Amino acid sequence: MFENLSDKIDKALHILKGHGKITEVNVADTLKEVRRALLDADVNFKIAKEFTNSVKEKALGQKVLTSLQPGQLLVKIMRDEMAALMGSKAADISLQGNPAVVLIAGLQGSGKTTFSAKLANFLKRKKGRNPMLVAADVYRPAAIDQLKVLGEQIQVPVFAIEGNKNPVEIAQKGIEHAKTLGHNVVIVDTAGRLSVDQEMMDEIARIHRAVKPSETLFVVDAMTGQDAVNTAKAFNEVLDFDGVVLTKLDGDTRGGAALTIKATVNKPIKFVGTGEKMDAIDIFHPDRMADRILG
Ligand code: GDP
Repeated sequence: MFENLSDKIDKALHILKGHGKITEVNVADTLKEVRRALLDADVNFKIAKEFTNSVKEKALGQKVLTSLQPGQLLVKIMRDEMAALMGSKAADISLQGNPAVVLIAGLQGSGKTTFSAKLANFLKRKKGRNPMLVAADVYRPAAIDQLKVLGEQIQVPVFAIEGNKNPVEIAQKGIEHAKTLGHNVVIVDTAGRLSVDQEMMDEIARIHRAVKPSETLFVVDAMTGQDAVNTAKAFNEVLDFDGVVLTKLDGDTRGGAALTIKATVNKPIKFVGTGEKMDAIDIFHPDRMADRILG
């Protein structure tokens, strides 16, 4: 994960570690390399600059130059700043109400349907919940079948209404149905488009108003870098969502989305997807991610 970024940062720190005497110039050079590594990882310019400036300020404040192990101290400062950039500590999801409603939104192909089922599986096996899935993606015909197949795999019931093209009605009926059957969590999988368009935004806003979710999660493909961040902005303006799910972190992703989403929309990444299997879901820990990136 983020191997390129890790390698480049590691190389940048070699500059510092390689010198007998550390000077302000060495630190500046190191941070310039770190900034370049961040830009290559698709972190936007402003955030990369703020990050390295802030590390530099703290390094000077903590007297890195005269410390016994300047390289290590700089790594520690960088690690803390990087974790803070991603939200510092893991953020939980809110499951209020009975049933608690979780709304899943995002572009087509981002991994919404897969994540909806993974989350149901996670809540069932790890949190002792009794979830139900609702198939409200009425535009992609295969989506409902896909959710049903996954539901069967994890043994979580899937509510769908064949032929119904009204996602608001499906979601509302699904929640009613869950209530009568005693399910305490309802996860609503919604339709996405290939790119942000007004119709999709209006629809997801209507569903959001109608089902009043206790948690709205925006799902985004980590591979899409800065596009992911821009899509997050667009969805956040309409939904004011609670958290981000970053999928496909098992792929060859550069890291930009993970590093910048929180700073851009001020919403934490709550879960990550690390594969196609139903157990390939992790709670996002900013500090652990920073450790990983910095090796
Ligand atoms: P949706 O259109 O947003 O509902 O997206 P899907 O859930 O259908 O996912 C699109 C594709 O991405 C499918 O082939 C999934 O198996 C795959 N996918 C979803 N999440 C992950 C992930 O975390 N890692 C990998 N490698 N593939 C994923």
